Amino acid sequence: MSCDLLRLAADLLGDLLAPRTCALCDSMAAVSPCPNCSAMLPPPPTPRTVDGTPVWAAQPYAEPVSGAVRRLKYERRVDVVPTLARLLAPVGLELAAIPGLWLVPVPLHAHRLAERGYNQSALLARAVCREWQKEPSRSRVAVAPRVLLRTRETGHQARRSRSERLDALDGAFLVPTPRRLVGRPVVLVDDVVTTGATVRACTAALRQANAEVVGVLAVCDSCPPTDSGT
Ligand SMILES: [Zn+2]
Repeated sequence: MSCDLLRLAADLLGDLLAPRTCALCDSMAAVSPCPNCSAMLPPPPTPRTVDGTPVWAAQPYAEPVSGAVRRLKYERRVDVVPTLARLLAPVGLELAAIPGLWLVPVPLHAHRLAERGYNQSALLARAVCREWQKEPSRSRVAVAPRVLLRTRETGHQARRSRSERLDALDGAFLVPTPRRLVGRPVVLVDDVVTTGATVRACTAALRQANAEVVGVLAVCDSCPPTDSGT
């Protein structure tokens, strides 16, 4: 059985065994997000572009979704992934029709991956893919978690100046086998787009490998629409 099938089986088992709670507020609920949280959700932010690459996000970086993203990253709450994916999948639905599309998660450095045990962006990409594949005509989208590597630990970007961020990310991402990406339509998947610096570095590495970078999908976009994000 492939890793993805094992993961899917684990997800389905988890759904059966887990108490029915809202992933955003942890209250008992038959659906997630619960009606209270759904009523609180603002509309998706207007897509912005980073170096000409459109960024589609499900939400601004605001409660209750921002809290769920923090729990996913820092408290091992992988149970929030299906709910976040249900919010994200409709935002990028038109992408699901692109033939041969690969979803490429923003990679973690190997040390961070070992520490956390999972890459939250890869979990989100797989869950979005599963949401899209509920419609058979979209079954050709794949997740490609190993085509992009993070070769340097880049620390916490938000605490740095713009030039420090760009220096920290310069050469931090690598495509180990570029020939696999030539002409391939790809969408980068991230949990939160903040300054756009990580998006820039990742899309530059993908374009250098001659991939066709279609856009970025993120659960949250923390910046207002602009093409001058740092
Ligand atoms: Zn709720």
